[in-house]
Amino acid sequence: MKRLVVLGAGESGCGAAILAQKEGFDVFVSDMGTIRDEYRALLDNHHIAYESGQHTEALILNADEVVKSPGIPNTAPIIVKLQQQGTPVISEIELAARYTHAKMICITGSNGKTTTTSLIFDMLVRAGLNVGLAGNIGNSLALQVAQQEREYYVIELSSFQLDNMYDFKADIAILMNITPDHLDRYEFQFQNYVDAKFRITRNQTSSEAFIYWSEDPVIDREIARIRPQATLYPFGTGEHNMAYTDGSNLIVAAPQAVEPLEVPLEELALRGKHNCLNSMAASLAAQILHIHNDVIRESLTQFAGVAHRLQYVATVRGISFINDSKATNVNSCWYALESMTTPTVLILGGKDKGNDYSEIDDLVRQKCHTLVFMGLHNEKLHEHFDPFTRTPSPLTGNRSPLTIIDTDNLHDAIEGAYHAAHEGDTVLLSPCCASFDLFTSYEDRGEQFMNAVRNL
Ligand code: ADP
Repeated sequence: MKRLVVLGAGESGCGAAILAQKEGFDVFVSDMGTIRDEYRALLDNHHIAYESGQHTEALILNADEVVKSPGIPNTAPIIVKLQQQGTPVISEIELAARYTHAKMICITGSNGKTTTTSLIFDMLVRAGLNVGLAGNIGNSLALQVAQQEREYYVIELSSFQLDNMYDFKADIAILMNITPDHLDRYEFQFQNYVDAKFRITRNQTSSEAFIYWSEDPVIDREIARIRPQATLYPFGTGEHNMAYTDGSNLIVAAPQAVEPLEVPLEELALRGKHNCLNSMAASLAAQILHIHNDVIRESLTQFAGVAHRLQYVATVRGISFINDSKATNVNSCWYALESMTTPTVLILGGKDKGNDYSEIDDLVRQKCHTLVFMGLHNEKLHEHFDPFTRTPSPLTGNRSPLTIIDTDNLHDAIEGAYHAAHEGDTVLLSPCCASFDLFTSYEDRGEQFMNAVRNL
């Protein structure tokens, strides 16, 4: 009996353990931290051996294969040891894909993954297909494969999952964009992160599809360099793309479609430039799967959106509050600011991942009169934005430069933002950073933000 060790007992790890057991492996799960009660119960119910609070080498290094949670870096000592002795370390998605014949629609990118994944899932459900949602959202792919076979899976893939994928092949791969993110996990080398993202095209042939944003300079450069074998489906502005905007309509014309789909931009349920790109990518995937244009149109115009992404919370004293807690990098904050139509108070800060804030300089100058820093370590934000407090911002009519409010907790941040904002302004939480200094997750940060706003 082959031994499979799972490192990390979260959603993906527990799913992998259950599938591996079903497939006849001798399974052991090890988690360096504490295991949540629900996952302990799951492992107990399946009589799967596990440990927490440690990695016992004698029980791990004898594995034939290891499934690693995407949260564990490759530099973790136990991973280094496994790699040194030549033990294969794979991701949960790689394992799960061995045991299903379902079509895989996989989405990656620095931003827009969850929105695009959810939109495609919505289209496939509306089309009546037998489809599962997996990867970073929904139940783990492995658990679904173990418990309930589907014909399609829509899978959100982070670069960390892609890092440990080798034989996996996406039937439809989607790459939304590539901007610097998670550089702390990639030796601060942007190219390492780019390479990880492009692994989504690995093993694809001309029978498979690769959908990508054609105006992303990094993607453009890499396509020219590595020449993916898949059939290419670019989207962007202009008719040379298979999905594009002509200024007033979104037009999608994959060769598989009986006729092009045309939807007025003002009818799209998801607003903003970035969401237009997400809508194009999703529609192309649906057309490739021969989903009827009427169904795609219905989804594009009725999709309810995803929580914590530019989510409207409430208007208090004429001030609108928007929760964009999921903006955990600078580029996503750029898109959030870009879509602001009123003077803005921006709340940002948290766990910095090697951020370069200069990307939002212009938009901060154009749209914000106040920045509220919310983090345990705001030094880097001060270093970057303090000079803005000395030069007048165009928005304030040369009267007063940008105001900065320094806080280290949500309560003070919201109070500060609320008092700095005027009637007609927007308070935008779009932090550019991970949440782990003050919160358990971006969802926790968003929920606390929304509760605090509702209590103002
Ligand atoms: P991800 O899953 O990749 O983190 P989400 O769909 O959760 O992406 O969106 C996160 C944030 O990124 C949103 O709040 C929005 O501000 C921004 N965003 C969404 N789609 C895009 C896109 N296509 N390009 C750039 N930014 C985007």
